Amino acid sequence: MAERRDPFWDVVASFGVEEVFVLPEWIQQEVQQDSVSSPGIKGDMEALEKEIAGCMKCPLGATRKNIVFGEGNPESGILFVGEGPGANEDETGRPFVGRSGKLLDRIFASIGLDRSKLFIANIVKCRPPGNRTPSAEEAEICGRYLERQIEIMRPGIIVALGASAARTLLGTRKGIGLLRGELHRYMDTPVLATYHPAALLRSPALKRPVWEDMKRLKSFMEQTGLPRTEGETNG
Ligand code: SF4
Repeated sequence: MAERRDPFWDVVASFGVEEVFVLPEWIQQEVQQDSVSSPGIKGDMEALEKEIAGCMKCPLGATRKNIVFGEGNPESGILFVGEGPGANEDETGRPFVGRSGKLLDRIFASIGLDRSKLFIANIVKCRPPGNRTPSAEEAEICGRYLERQIEIMRPGIIVALGASAARTLLGTRKGIGLLRGELHRYMDTPVLATYHPAALLRSPALKRPVWEDMKRLKSFMEQTGLPRTEGETNG
């Protein structure tokens, strides 16, 4: 039986990736600074993951099965941040492994990325019961671990997936429809916000704006030399 074509690819096929996304001067300066990288990124991330094991600092610890620390290449300079683990992620301890994750992998592939060329994490590392949005308190407490992941990675770009991640990182109450389409900053790091893949599964019309955001990301990567290679991160 012929494989059913994912509508995402119809959207992809209707666009090129030639859009020019000119970086503001402040970002070019930050990226140059980021090329001076620290040694031991993987080791520092592994140490943090061990430190978090067994964490019960917020109420989500009581109901989780597994902590979802994040995965990928922390030396890549590209960090995707979602809201929190769902049921599949809670079962496996891995981020974005359900239907949303499969769609996200296809989105990555559309701009030449895969999980070996970026790092994926969430605002909270334990599953909120019933997949509810993490409370402000939970996001603040667990967000400190994400802050430390960002300090270790020193990413050249953060992509916030969905309103919850974007609002937490950017300290705003604005909706994702207002936040996407331009570069923001978290501390010194450029941030692109886009829709969460779960929202695309519910509303396929959102695939078009997400593809526009991915074209911006691709343009950003081309202009800043992301993803970083091992030599760049350890040099
Ligand atoms: S969500 Fe974060 S802070 Fe809360 S228990 Fe899990 S790891 Fe600890």
